[in-house]
Amino acid sequence: MKLKSSLTFFAGFAACAALLVLLAATRSPTKGVPESEQDVYYPGSEDLKPDEMRIVALGTGMPSARPKQAAACWLVELGNGDKFLFDLGSGCHERIAAQKIPYDYLDKVFIGHLHVDHMGDLPTFWLGGTVMNRLTPLRIWGPSGGTPEYGTKHALDLMKKMYAWDIGTRSGVIDFRGGELEVHEFPFDGVNKVIYDENGVVIRSIPAVHGLDGAVSFILEWNGLKFVYGSDTIPNKWYVEHAKGADIAIHECFLPPTLLVTKQGFAPMEALMVGTQGHTSPEQFGKVMSLVKPRLAVGYHFYNDFDTEPEVRRRARKTYDGPLDLALDYMVWNVTKNDIRVRMSAIDEEVWPSPPLKKKNAPDTSKSIAFSKFTISGVIAMPEVMEPIFDEINEKYGTNIEPIFK
Ligand SMILES: [Zn+2]
Ligand SMILES: [Zn+2]
Repeated sequence: MKLKSSLTFFAGFAACAALLVLLAATRSPTKGVPESEQDVYYPGSEDLKPDEMRIVALGTGMPSARPKQAAACWLVELGNGDKFLFDLGSGCHERIAAQKIPYDYLDKVFIGHLHVDHMGDLPTFWLGGTVMNRLTPLRIWGPSGGTPEYGTKHALDLMKKMYAWDIGTRSGVIDFRGGELEVHEFPFDGVNKVIYDENGVVIRSIPAVHGLDGAVSFILEWNGLKFVYGSDTIPNKWYVEHAKGADIAIHECFLPPTLLVTKQGFAPMEALMVGTQGHTSPEQFGKVMSLVKPRLAVGYHFYNDFDTEPEVRRRARKTYDGPLDLALDYMVWNVTKNDIRVRMSAIDEEVWPSPPLKKKNAPDTSKSIAFSKFTISGVIAMPEVMEPIFDEINEKYGTNIEPIFK
């Protein structure tokens, strides 16, 4: 061994030994492991520092959600207290619930395009959240389409109509303020146009190339930090130009056409068209990131498994050698100007929604919709069963509530 390499070796060894001694010094048979030494994020357990951005992947997979990966959804939490959801793809709602965040704090949603894997859980998040104590209107930003019937406003008008029965069952029965929708449709072809500017947070949209006219990507800037979210797009000039300077740049990174053929049974033509002309292959993703040069590049939108991740990474590495994460659901990034820390979350599967943050208003019973005489004729009232249930509550809370069906 040459003298220089021996010295380097011993210097490295000494540094490792010193680190181990330091870590051992923080261990105790009665104290917990310090948070700074844990590689796991427990949602709801950590303060967000005033200058910190926390990003949580809540859907990183494909249109057919699976236990390991829901479809597209990303949560951005800021140290000023603001929280933003980008896309609400199929299956993501339960991952949102796992964050233990009251629904009133999750009132700002940005939809990049109207594919079901980017908005499929919007109805459950909207109405499920309303039933589970949201008392603040849900605000939704989304692009126009090439014509009005392909725009966000039209889609959400129809969503409201589609759920007329659900809404009817709540009318006059609960405080429905959280069911109000505030829809902000913006032009899909705006280039780096501001679509949101509140509380020191600016969000811009840029056009994307995906599916039809009416797909966009988003850029969020706050406190000197820049988050870019591609939704779906093939490589395009707007992303490359305007994502520059990003602390975190998220862009789709689809399965390579070879795996679309072998794992998903696509025909070669279909695999090439879907995998490179409708979506972005790993090699294209890498090239985009080489041009953008973010502090951290994040690829998503593929079934990320032990046998696909190495192949996707190998191909992305053909065209990009910078910092890279290939996202999984529940991956978390804590971003400050000096550091980006990445962890996986440990989830409490028995999480309950938060109690309401505001006082609930009494429902407006004039809006309630009555059953027909026919349906009422089928009720078995069970007074001997109901009386003790109502007595228990009335005695405990000093109320005088009676059953509707007697
Ligand atoms: Zn799409
Ligand atoms: Zn998609």
